[in-house]
Amino acid sequence: MRELTDIRSMTSHEVEELILSLGEPKYRAAQVYAWVAKGAASFDEMSDIPSALRAKLKELCRLSALKILEKQTSKDGTVKYLFELHDGNTVESVLMRYEHGSTLCVSSQVGCRMGCSFCASTVGGLVRNLSAGEMLEQVQAAAQGSGERVDGLVLMGMGEPLDNYDNVIKFLHLVNDSLGMGIGYRHISLSTCGLVPMIDKLAGEGLPITLSISLHAPTDAVRAAMMPVTKKWPIGQVVAAASRYARRTGRKVYFEYTMVAGVNDSKEQAQLLAALLRGILCHVNLIPLNPVAGKENVASDRKRIYAFSATLMKNGVSSTVRRRLGSDIDAACGQLRRRRMDGN
Ligand code: SAH
Repeated sequence: MRELTDIRSMTSHEVEELILSLGEPKYRAAQVYAWVAKGAASFDEMSDIPSALRAKLKELCRLSALKILEKQTSKDGTVKYLFELHDGNTVESVLMRYEHGSTLCVSSQVGCRMGCSFCASTVGGLVRNLSAGEMLEQVQAAAQGSGERVDGLVLMGMGEPLDNYDNVIKFLHLVNDSLGMGIGYRHISLSTCGLVPMIDKLAGEGLPITLSISLHAPTDAVRAAMMPVTKKWPIGQVVAAASRYARRTGRKVYFEYTMVAGVNDSKEQAQLLAALLRGILCHVNLIPLNPVAGKENVASDRKRIYAFSATLMKNGVSSTVRRRLGSDIDAACGQLRRRRMDGN
């Protein structure tokens, strides 16, 4: 059977080329694109498109809609979705509510091949990349499911976004399009475990998004035990790439630092981290570990996290402790999918 083209992954220009190739007038392309960009779940919804054209499009294109398998709402208003993709795979998205609006945490891959020791998404490895359209669908489905506008995005769900580079860049363009979800680049953060060449490539895209880097340790030995990617790109190279990114884009880089008791949370480590980052336009987000079933790590206690933050600031590096949202509903990366796969 011939693969159908994923129309949700197409830019307005690509939809136009398709419609013109079918001998249809250009304005039909704008109509079709508007439906797709706004989150239509089927061609039959396109009430202003003649049925003959809808039938032709159905023969050539796939316009799948995510199925909501689970929706959990936390006491703090955080909503976690487990979606089923058209091929039966599942991904998660989390809608977080802040005073200034709502932010959706989007997945970029099914599974992940980076192998971080504390992360649930990586158990079972990488299954496949998500298409740009499948990332867009998460945003559309969350907006429809909550009846609210999604104001911002963090690419901090399942997967390593820079390991699915082209689809992620295309997604950013699509989700920013004012004909569709219209989410401003300045309200989008991309988080990476530190794929150095891809960080440099991203800096050259000219997109005013925020870069977050998951650092989690100030020394290669500790980081390599938590994050195998360190063996390929040591901390020195990652921090240098972050510094180049900040200089080239003029945008502050955020370092994520998940606090694990007795592993990366000592005062000496805070001092080493400060020495590493001093002088870079950056901010450190300290994240209490969300313990994952079957993994041994234990979260640092709050007092220790605040002491770590104070040491960073005393040494000239700005830092805050991330508020925990949705901890009552498995809202840490990959946990809902994992639980469902384990059948409990
Ligand atoms: N692959 C990307 C984005 C996905 S993870 C990256 O590594 O940045 C998003 C963030 O959640 C990362 O900082 C990741 O290290 C962190 N994280 C993963 N599992 C966690 C857990 N169990 N508790 C706290 N933070 C976790």
